[in-house]
Amino acid sequence: MSFGPACPLCGGTGPKVFVREARGHRLWDCRDCGTGFCDPFQNPGPAYYERNADLYSSTARAETDPMSFEYDEALALLRRARAPGARLLDVGCGDGGFLHRAKAEGWAPSGLDFNPARAKALRERGFEIFDGALPELAARAPAAFDALTIFQVLEHLDAPNDWLRAASSLLKPGGLLVVGVPNRDRTFDPFQGPGLDVIDDPPHHLTRWSAPALSGLLARAGFRTLECRPLGYPLPLLRLMLRNTLRLGLATRALGVEQVRHASTAAAKGRPSSRQRLIRSLVSAKEAVLDAATGAVYPLFQAACRARGWQGAVLFAAAKKPG
Ligand SMILES: [Zn+2]
Repeated sequence: MSFGPACPLCGGTGPKVFVREARGHRLWDCRDCGTGFCDPFQNPGPAYYERNADLYSSTARAETDPMSFEYDEALALLRRARAPGARLLDVGCGDGGFLHRAKAEGWAPSGLDFNPARAKALRERGFEIFDGALPELAARAPAAFDALTIFQVLEHLDAPNDWLRAASSLLKPGGLLVVGVPNRDRTFDPFQGPGLDVIDDPPHHLTRWSAPALSGLLARAGFRTLECRPLGYPLPLLRLMLRNTLRLGLATRALGVEQVRHASTAAAKGRPSSRQRLIRSLVSAKEAVLDAATGAVYPLFQAACRARGWQGAVLFAAAKKPG
C-alpha cells in the first residue's frame, strides 16, 4: 500500500494499491472508486493510434467483427427507446460498424472519431461525422441527441469524467447512454496470446473497469444506471481467444504481426514471396481447423461459463439522463 497519485477518476487522495510497472507507467488501483489507472495518465494522441492501426479490426462489416455482440446488446436496448428519426451519436465510431446497424434500425446516427481518413470515408457514405473531443462537441450541440453509444473508448481517455459530463450535456433529458469497456474481472482475455502486446496496458488502455467502478463513474456524471454487467463470450470471441492463445509465433516471426493480422493489407504493399504465400496458407488452414473445433465445443464452453460463473471480457452498461 502506498499513497500514490490522486485518483484521476474520483479524485480520491487516500492510499492506493500499487499493481506493477508497465511500459514506463505505474499501475495503481483506487480503493475509493475501484478503478485501475496509470501514472502518468495521458492519452498518447492520434499518432499512436495511426502507428498501431492493426490493433483495430475493421468494424464496417458487423457480421465479421468479433466485438459486434456488444452492438447486438445495445440495439436490443435502444430498440425499446427509439422514436421515429431519433438521433444517436456513436462516440469513437471507427469504421462505422455500429452506425450502419443503427441506421438500419431507423435511427438517425452521427459519429465522432479523430481519425480523418475514417471520418472522410463515412462522410462520403452520407453520415454526419464530428471530429475532436466530446467536450468540444458538447459546447456546440447541447441536448441534441436521444442516445449516445461509447464502445471500447472510455479506457483510452485521459479525461473520462469530462467526456461523461459532455455525454450528459449532449443528451436530451431522459436520453440513453450505452457504454462498453473491457471488464477487468474477466475470466479469459481474448486479445492475449504469444507474440501479442498486452493491449490492456498503457499507453493503450489508461484505465481498468469493474462493474462498481463503471457504475460509480456514471453516477458521478449524473446518470442513473439501468444496468451494468459483464457480457458472455459469443462464438466469434471464443474463436479469437483460441486463435490468439494457440499462436505459435512462427508466422509472426516470418511475416510480422501486422501482416498476419491483416493479410489483405500486407498483400497491397507488394507481391508476396512464395514463402510468405505458403506461411499464409498454413495459417489459414490452422485457423479453419481451430474455427471448426471451436464451434463443436462452444455449447460445452457456454455450460461451463454458467456453471462456474466465468465473467465475460466486456462490461456493458446502460444509463439514463434524468428527465
Ligand atoms: Zn478513485
